Amino acid sequence: NLSDKLDKAFHILKGHGKITEVNVAETLKEVRRALLDADVNFKIAKDFTTKVKEKAIGQDVLTTLQPGQLLVKLVKDELTELMGGDVAGINLSGNPSIILMSGLQGSGKTTFSGKLANYLLTKKNKKPLLVACDIYRPAAIQQLYVVGDSIGVEVYSEPENKNPVEIAQNAIKHAKANGFNVVIVDTAGRLAVDEEMMNEIERVHKAIQPNETLFVVDAMTGQDAVNTAKAFNERLNFDGVILTKLDGDTRGGAAISIKSVVNKPIKFVGTGEKMDAIDVFYPIRMAERILGMGDVVSLVERAQEQFDEEEARKIQKKIAKNEFGFDDFLSQIQQVKKMGNMKDLVGMIPGASKAMKDVEIEDDAFKHIEAIIHSMTPIERSKPALIDVKRKARIAKGSGTKIEQVNQLMKQFEQMSKMMKMMQGPGGKNLMKMMGG
Ligand code: GDP
Ligand code: MG
Repeated sequence: NLSDKLDKAFHILKGHGKITEVNVAETLKEVRRALLDADVNFKIAKDFTTKVKEKAIGQDVLTTLQPGQLLVKLVKDELTELMGGDVAGINLSGNPSIILMSGLQGSGKTTFSGKLANYLLTKKNKKPLLVACDIYRPAAIQQLYVVGDSIGVEVYSEPENKNPVEIAQNAIKHAKANGFNVVIVDTAGRLAVDEEMMNEIERVHKAIQPNETLFVVDAMTGQDAVNTAKAFNERLNFDGVILTKLDGDTRGGAAISIKSVVNKPIKFVGTGEKMDAIDVFYPIRMAERILGMGDVVSLVERAQEQFDEEEARKIQKKIAKNEFGFDDFLSQIQQVKKMGNMKDLVGMIPGASKAMKDVEIEDDAFKHIEAIIHSMTPIERSKPALIDVKRKARIAKGSGTKIEQVNQLMKQFEQMSKMMKMMQGPGGKNLMKMMGG
């Protein structure tokens, strides 16, 4: 899938100390290929990688972080932007607010009509009315009743009437007379774009002047989704897109392309057949989903905010020269503490929670550690080997701790120094840099 491919793409950058034009180009070529495979339109994918490349090159401020991750961040930011940046709300200004569903047959209009009604009822305190304008299949009206029953929302239908425009207009009258403040009009779709369907939905659209016209599209249909979106948009100039069937590991490529091609925001996504399987569309979350990187991004961001580059360089030199002491340990702890909860941080580093499962991590342990280190003399701090039993007893007394705690810290310090040395090798760089080392 796309995230595996991107993983591979970003892997190319591993081991490079700095982002250069060459390794960025290589990686972005892979990114572009991955986007194309996920049904992102060619021109969009190309423009996209060009933009990221421009941003990536010459970012020497960030050479301290792993370049691969910087690139992940740039790609994520750009993807987010591409999908609309901010969350797009739904227009509920009318009284009643009229919402028209459009889209091909099987795209999920009826299901989504129910989900939206349920969402507005339970989350927005609205009184919605569902309207059955799919007049071609008797089962379609029945389906909407099943949906309406399951969420306790009234359904309006006229089984004998074959004019969807009339049905929709009558439904709005019914809504006004009965205190409904949202009218959701479910319409008929065809298996492919055809004139008859387009004419019909256009007539309904013109007659009821919806506050919100939504185009519902099956995320699994890939590039076809873009063409369908274009066709509907030309006729309806719709207000937003609903991306359904985004459950499982459906590729997200359609989301990227649709936004860029029709320039209409994606407003909601459907993630299952049940009535509560509806989510507001967050471009940033979709970007993360596409990249499959979850928390790594926020960790990189936090590291960027808190990271003291100067300090890090100093410490790195000391480790290399075997001069790493308790003063440095203390400043490491302070760096780490600035970044937040230690357990959370370790949990966010891919693979680290497993690797560090034997290392005890306690947040309030820092308190004792700091007290103990403060009770050491400068010479003890810079040459921990000097600390013998007698000195340990004095330090314990001075810091109000027990000698076992001092012993424990000495052991931890040894472990950490060892770990840091290890992390200077390939593969370990990342974790160490994040910890400010
Ligand atoms: P319509 O023809 O556009 O009204 O589409 P329907 O609402 O009848 O949906 C077609 C099929 O897709 C039904 O079997 C739905 O249960 C299913 N469906 C709709 N939305 C989703 C979704 O978000 N996830 C999944 N897995 N199935 C969905
Ligand atoms: Mg339907």
